[in-house]
Amino acid sequence: MKIYRYPERKIWPDLVKRPAIERKEISGLIAEIFEAVEKKGDQALIEFNKKFDKAVTSQITVSETEINNSENEISEDLKKAIKQAKENISKFHASQIAETEKIETVKGVTCWRENRAVEKVGIYIPGGTAPLFSTVLMLAVPANLAGCEEIILCTPPDSNGNINPAILFTAKLCGITKIFRTGGAQAVAAMSLGTESIPKVYKIFGPGNQYVVAAKEYAQRYGVAIDMPAGPSEVLVIADRQAVPGFCAADLLSQAEHGSDSQVVFIATDFKIFTETIEAVEKQVKKLPRNEMACKALDHSVFVLVNSVEEALEFSNLYAPEHLILALEDFEQYIPMIQNAGSVFLGNYSCESAGDYASGTNHTLPTNAYARNYSGVSIDSFVKKITFQYLSKEGLKKIGKTIEVMAEAEGLIAHKNAVSIRLK
Ligand code: NAD
Repeated sequence: MKIYRYPERKIWPDLVKRPAIERKEISGLIAEIFEAVEKKGDQALIEFNKKFDKAVTSQITVSETEINNSENEISEDLKKAIKQAKENISKFHASQIAETEKIETVKGVTCWRENRAVEKVGIYIPGGTAPLFSTVLMLAVPANLAGCEEIILCTPPDSNGNINPAILFTAKLCGITKIFRTGGAQAVAAMSLGTESIPKVYKIFGPGNQYVVAAKEYAQRYGVAIDMPAGPSEVLVIADRQAVPGFCAADLLSQAEHGSDSQVVFIATDFKIFTETIEAVEKQVKKLPRNEMACKALDHSVFVLVNSVEEALEFSNLYAPEHLILALEDFEQYIPMIQNAGSVFLGNYSCESAGDYASGTNHTLPTNAYARNYSGVSIDSFVKKITFQYLSKEGLKKIGKTIEVMAEAEGLIAHKNAVSIRLK
């Protein structure tokens, strides 16, 4: 833990830096992986499964029998929980489907936008250190609501070559049947380039570790779109003196346990809450099964004591966290000050894991300060918006002169003629 009491503003830029693997080292590896997948297709994926996931696999495609059997391998309780989460996520995402509104900018000139789903999408489900079946809901539910025609899923196999049954069950529940056992950068390469088994897609979604994020960035040179850079998880908690140290510690650890490259930040305005939260983190972390990973994440995590909530929010906006928790009494009055954050949790009872699983919001969110310029996944991520316009002769007459003058000034005479010829 890195602890700072009333740090001077000039060191804030250092405090908001994320832990990262050397960029150069990754980019060379990603290029090699793409090249291997392009040349050897499925065979490369089989080799990478062995190399990175210690899994011997002969088939990349998950069979229908495996998908169907998954139902018998998970508890009734888990199935019920997944179904309830799906219902809430569906409700919230369905509410994002906007009505088409036709606007008459000038009499006789009508403009509007219509949504069209991205036809072929690939979703990546992390499976390295934890099988994130919840991410299947977060991506497949909006993809279905948006009307995507082909949804494929890639996820890494375990060391026996199997895919976690909860991932398979959730995928089936969401109507996904094209599932492939491949993870990391090679999965992203396969969805970008296509292999014998894996169809090429138009857009790739899903979070992952640094290899997955770097591969998604690389994939864009093949004309594939990506949702956003969603990498190692983060949370920033701002607490005042009514916050509950035990709750704050649990929230911080819920992100720290994601992976050793996750990062958590705690900012308090009250000394007692500050020290008690640090103590609570130290106590709670010992009891976690993923203790080792959480401790590694805590090594580069930042605990900051500041003078006011305003100052804390300024720090938070600079950090641009994936998840922001306001453990504040008057959280509502601070909402307008939030400029950069992926998803915000208000008050002492809005734990971050509610958004991870079941409240309804999406948990695929921008990390690594990308909350400054990206939104989390939503229905919009799965659609393109096409603009339409209809001009009557009367409408063209009304704006014709404007077009002619502007086109002529830009030296684009054919543009001008397209109007003049109609209005002659
Ligand atoms: P993962 O599926 O992202 O990565 C596992 C894959 O990484 C393996 O299949 C392997 O191919 C590859 N890999 C591992 N070591 C490698 C190496 N040395 N060289 C090349 N490739 C290698 O699973 P994970 O590792 O558990 O990571 C999941 C990540 O997703 C975590 O960092 C978590 O914080 C993040 N996450 C983010 C969000 C979000 O919305 N931002 C949501 C959930 C999870």
